[in-house]
Amino acid sequence: MDTRQMVDMQNYSTLFSLFDRYHNFALSTHINPDGDAIGSELGLYLFLTGLGKSVKMFNTDAVPVNYRFLPFWDSIESTHSVGTYQPEVLIVLDASTLERIGKALAKTLHPTHSLINIDHHATAEAFGDINLIVPSASSTSEIVYKLIKYHQTPIDKACALCLYTGLMFDTGCFRHSNTTAETHQIAAELIEIGEFAPDEVYRNVYEHVPVAKIHLLSEVLRTLQVTDDGKIASVYVTQTMFRKTGTTADAVEGIVNQIQAIAGVEVALCASEMMDRSTKVSLRSQGCVDVSQLAAEFEGGGHARAAGCRITMPYLLAIAALIQAAQRYIHPSPVEQGDYQKD
Ligand code: 5GP
Ligand code: MN
Repeated sequence: MDTRQMVDMQNYSTLFSLFDRYHNFALSTHINPDGDAIGSELGLYLFLTGLGKSVKMFNTDAVPVNYRFLPFWDSIESTHSVGTYQPEVLIVLDASTLERIGKALAKTLHPTHSLINIDHHATAEAFGDINLIVPSASSTSEIVYKLIKYHQTPIDKACALCLYTGLMFDTGCFRHSNTTAETHQIAAELIEIGEFAPDEVYRNVYEHVPVAKIHLLSEVLRTLQVTDDGKIASVYVTQTMFRKTGTTADAVEGIVNQIQAIAGVEVALCASEMMDRSTKVSLRSQGCVDVSQLAAEFEGGGHARAAGCRITMPYLLAIAALIQAAQRYIHPSPVEQGDYQKD
């Protein structure tokens, strides 16, 4: 076992002592949950229930339709169901900040003993009593996989499917730069254990697109703008478009990846007008710009190549501000270049 693995194991053992000591657990994940959020949450749920624990899951937003093939998705409850319930231990997955489980839920759901934060975002805040933040992990699902392995508990079929789904999603189907030989090894093991067909998992997640979402996509692509240097591409989504196509904010998922694929584009952004007229932004980078830093300038976060933020400005102003900020990363001024060289 190498040193890195030993350090990891020490972190995990602190967690395991809580698993021994307590019985009532609650899990939660971020708003607008994606494949890794739901996959890691359900994977951990199955592991803990397998240990005989009483486990509840509470999310602010409903499970997107394309993840409803996963086992126990319908055991995930909403904020309203919390009532006076208090778990002994609350585990928050993939969220970056506690607020990202949703403001109302964060105010309602309090553990009596311990708050645990499991995440792989480099910009994650250490808001937990125990923080298992592993930026080198491809996904939170991969961290949950390792946690179960270190615990030396066999992963069951249902759990393997959930974790595989999270791993597949956060690596962009094993295309993104967070994909390593180890990711493939873990995926292979999960496929063997789970005995599912990977192509079916793919189809469930990506090929049950409601036609309304394609109508939205066609509206959004018409807003495409590329900066003169060809390096920043942006699109936007308005409340009018949602109304016209009968879609909601979750239909925006994935659109930014389409414009990221434009030749020469370094930074792609998709800005969505929210109901309160603030703007939710998804950012993607080809690698030259760390978009988690760009997002952090607007109180957001994420990863170097995929990040996001919410800006309290109308969408056109928010885009202008983001493009201006992104230009600084693409074309640093001589002073900033000097600063870079000093580091
Ligand atoms: P997406 O664009 O797919 O919604 O998000 C891309 C990445 O950025 C994800 O890892 C997500 O967790 C992170 N992210 C998106 N929006 C926000 C935000 O408002 N705040 C923070 N801290 N991270 C975000
Ligand atoms: Mn994730």
